[in-house]
Amino acid sequence: MKYVFLKNKIIPEEQSRVPLATNALQYGNGVFGGVRGYWNSQEKRIYLLKPCEHFERLVNSAKILGMLPAKSMPYQVLEIVEIVKKLARRNKPQGDVYIRPFIFQSAPLLTPVISPEKGEPVLAMYMIELGDYLSTSKGLKGIVTSWRRIDDAMAPPRGKVCGLYVNSSLARSDAEAQGADEAIFLNQDGSVCEGSAENIFIVRDGKLITPPVCANILEGVTRQSIMEIAKNEGISVIERNVSRTELYIAEEVFLTGTACQVAYFSKIDNRKIGTGRIGPITKRLQEIYFDAVHGRLPEYKTWLTSI
Ligand code: PMP
Repeated sequence: MKYVFLKNKIIPEEQSRVPLATNALQYGNGVFGGVRGYWNSQEKRIYLLKPCEHFERLVNSAKILGMLPAKSMPYQVLEIVEIVKKLARRNKPQGDVYIRPFIFQSAPLLTPVISPEKGEPVLAMYMIELGDYLSTSKGLKGIVTSWRRIDDAMAPPRGKVCGLYVNSSLARSDAEAQGADEAIFLNQDGSVCEGSAENIFIVRDGKLITPPVCANILEGVTRQSIMEIAKNEGISVIERNVSRTELYIAEEVFLTGTACQVAYFSKIDNRKIGTGRIGPITKRLQEIYFDAVHGRLPEYKTWLTSI
């Protein structure tokens, strides 16, 4: 969309420039987020989905990298929400949007070092129109990629760190090269981890199972929302390690994420998952999720912030 936010100003996208020597561009020293805004056609306005949760994770990602000055915190969550509101009012979207905030180390530092004293962290943001990222109505074809998820002892998958998306990009490219829609990572221990940019759930014996937060996953906002809905619906939710072969015999396997929302697999590594069609638990959770994010369910209205 036409306007973006950079260095405390809203400017036309074509005027947003960063120098070639920007440290973040060379070394990936930045962190980012992704927030959806759902268009309410009756009220003719956008509702942001869980913006505070997303911006808390953004700031925490910067904190994990050590990008923030120790003395004063330059970015407060509520201030970032206000920036999104201002940017959206300028862009005047008329449909669903995806907002991409990021904080990057802007200095022309040749050294691969992260230091708020040497390189000022800069907040930037743009927004695009976005429908489905992966199909939410057709079953996905998945593969378990041979690329392993980066381990917390190497670089932090708990943070949404720009440079770490090389790991995601390799996995997703592997899936696409094999004619699949999405890749599933195993972590260094060989347990199921997540998709290239989504968390993963399986259903076994009617129970929902998902890898725990210490399995080198990103702590997804949508993952949390789905667990909340499941609990409210009386579906048991278990956070535990998942083995690769459990994917093949699970009744249902689905992905969650801001972009992908709730998308299910019909095939993984050429094995049919369940009946190959959307399973009853995925269907129920997906329906409730879509109703919640579109503001149709009063019990989930607290997830939404109007612009
Ligand atoms: N894992 C990874 C690696 C991701 O990039 C994302 C997308 N942010 C997710 C999981 C899902 O997180 P969320 O539900 O917060 O979008």
